[in-house]
Amino acid sequence: MRLEDPKILVELAALGVDHRRGIALSGLTSLGIGGTTDLLRITRHDSIAPLVGLLAANGIPYKFLGGGSNLLVADGDLPWVVLQLVAPDSDIVLEGNLAHVDAAADLGRTVTFCAKHDLGGMEGLIGVPGTVGGALRMNAGAYGMQIGTYVREVKVFRAAARAIEILRGHQISFEYRHTSFAPDDMMLAVTLELPAKPYKEILQGIRICNEKRRSSQPLGQKSAGCIFKNPPGASAGRLIDELGLKNLHVGDARVSDRHANFFVNAGRASAKDMLALISRVRDGVQQAFGVALENEVVVWNA
Ligand SMILES: Cc1cc2nc3c(=O)[nH]c(=O)nc-3n(C[C@H](O)[C@H](O)[C@H](O)COP(=O)(O)OP(=O)(O)OC[C@H]3O[C@@H](n4cnc5c(N)ncnc54)[C@H](O)[C@@H]3O)c2cc1C
Repeated sequence: MRLEDPKILVELAALGVDHRRGIALSGLTSLGIGGTTDLLRITRHDSIAPLVGLLAANGIPYKFLGGGSNLLVADGDLPWVVLQLVAPDSDIVLEGNLAHVDAAADLGRTVTFCAKHDLGGMEGLIGVPGTVGGALRMNAGAYGMQIGTYVREVKVFRAAARAIEILRGHQISFEYRHTSFAPDDMMLAVTLELPAKPYKEILQGIRICNEKRRSSQPLGQKSAGCIFKNPPGASAGRLIDELGLKNLHVGDARVSDRHANFFVNAGRASAKDMLALISRVRDGVQQAFGVALENEVVVWNA
């Protein structure tokens, strides 16, 4: 979708929105898949309410992008624009064992910054790409921990009310790759309360998690991490592996030979290829084990 109405362009500029035309989302997603649309980069939290109002008044649909590491985006000319927060210069501020973090901050950098200041707990998140906002939305986690455990409060823009609210941790439910945020809530910032731990000890935990990832995941290849959530009491990757589906492919979309729940773009895969691969694997698992696999990857259809 292209924004061309001069009146809209003037208003975007007045809101300080950085409007980038015809951006290929394949360049902004870790899968390297996605068509083109206009990207609106938001530099000030107070511009979000008028921006969302402007888009609604003009019937312009939008989606919200973090770091693009858990997304499968449709091919071609996309019928919505994309909003993305730009991190401020100082995106992590520490106060005792609280970390005040902008939602656009890089997750890995946040984990290491806190670690260097003797704040731990998030070692398992090292190696999870993307932003802190995306991690909150997905309740990202690994190796027995999840980010939600450490959330004290979240600053969120509630599109339904067009207002910014502060939610306390106990008002939000964080479950396995699921949160109680409304689908159109935008996380703007979070305060994490982290356990004090000596840097050396945290570093040791980080090294162990890094090693586990290196030995089991196709890290050099384009992926969105796990495609499916683990069904209760089972591992989606193990079920797919047991069916002998490693290396199954549709075009360049391929089930990784290292980790069967990672599907990789081994060249020039399209969203159509990847969706076809996902449905073949899901159908196979359903037929063989009677288990309905649910997507962990977020699909943005055209
Ligand atoms: C190699 C690799 C390894 C991975 N390992 C793990 C892992 O161990 N554990 C795990 O949980 N995940 C893992 N992932 C998946 C992914 O990195 C996480 O889900 C990550 O938290 C997504 O963040 P993002 O900023 O990239 O979100 P995006 O992919 O940009 O967006 C994902 C969803 O969150 C929404 N969103 C993003 N930012 C915001 C915001 N500020 N406010 C509201 N909604 C928002 C988007 O609209 C979208 O619906 C892995 C991915 C890769 C590529």
